Amino acid sequence: MPAVLDDISTEILNLKKKIGATILAHYYQEGEIQELADITGDSLKLAREATKVDTPVIVFCGVLFMAETAKMLNPTKKVLLPDLKAGCSLVDSCPPDKLHRYQEMLRENGRKFQTVTYINSSAAVKALSDWVVTSGNAEEVVRKIPAEYEILFVPDKHLGRYLSEVTGRQMILWDGSCMVHEIFSVHDLVRMKKLHPGAQVIAHPECPKNILEHAEFIGGTEAMIKHVGSFKDPVEFIVATEPNMMWQLESRFKQHKYLPVPGITCACNKCPHMALNTLEKIRDCMKTGQPEILWQPEFDKAKEVLAKSLLNPPATKPHPQGD
Ligand code: SF4
Repeated sequence: MPAVLDDISTEILNLKKKIGATILAHYYQEGEIQELADITGDSLKLAREATKVDTPVIVFCGVLFMAETAKMLNPTKKVLLPDLKAGCSLVDSCPPDKLHRYQEMLRENGRKFQTVTYINSSAAVKALSDWVVTSGNAEEVVRKIPAEYEILFVPDKHLGRYLSEVTGRQMILWDGSCMVHEIFSVHDLVRMKKLHPGAQVIAHPECPKNILEHAEFIGGTEAMIKHVGSFKDPVEFIVATEPNMMWQLESRFKQHKYLPVPGITCACNKCPHMALNTLEKIRDCMKTGQPEILWQPEFDKAKEVLAKSLLNPPATKPHPQGD
């Protein structure tokens, strides 16, 4: 928390008390938002933490699918999302009707499969799935699926390909990707490695293979925090994930230096969806009680899949790169 809070931060903290709210913020939110939050985390941590919130209101600083997940896992709470337009390119890449038709085609062809869905998906897509995973638990879940099933992995082809490689499971991959991780410049990454020969590249598995093959460590954001925290002496890290993640790393492990990998089309490479949430919108949603995530019919089935996938970890031994 800053020594002197500005007016808007003070207003948010006062409103938080007044309406009884808990603020959850994803690691891809601006530092000023993470700083005000009660809990910060990746999708998996925030989903699990949302189930423990005991205040009547959850203010979710992230994108729509994350706020919907919080609502499904803790349905009696009022869940507010500062900007309802905060979407995700992965969600957009997998319309539920298209997935349904594809699953039907596989069934008609006698294929025996289970659908494993990355949490970055709509509730309707989660409802069509056997499992919902995050980058923190995906490997555990994939290892748990009996070998007689094929795996249809949606919607992130890069995470699916990475999982297929580490688990040795063949997968049918949906053609979706994250607009942020997709466009890291491999040219700039190679140049940075030459300029900083002692640096370690840490990369999110949503990145394409040409980025991951230059990485010393691959893992979701929680796994990155654990990895970086395991170095006591100063290290330079070249970071290939959404750049707001560096605020979290810099706050926790000040002894290290962090260098962001630029994007091909945008040097900062921030997620435009996450960026829709601002301190002003957080204040306003707490004042008005809007926009609120309302229960949708598809939440009933999606909630069952979410709960069995995220709240009851599989019995298999976790991999060190898991959450
Ligand atoms: S960083 Fe990528 S996966 Fe995350 S919300 Fe933005 S577009 Fe979606």
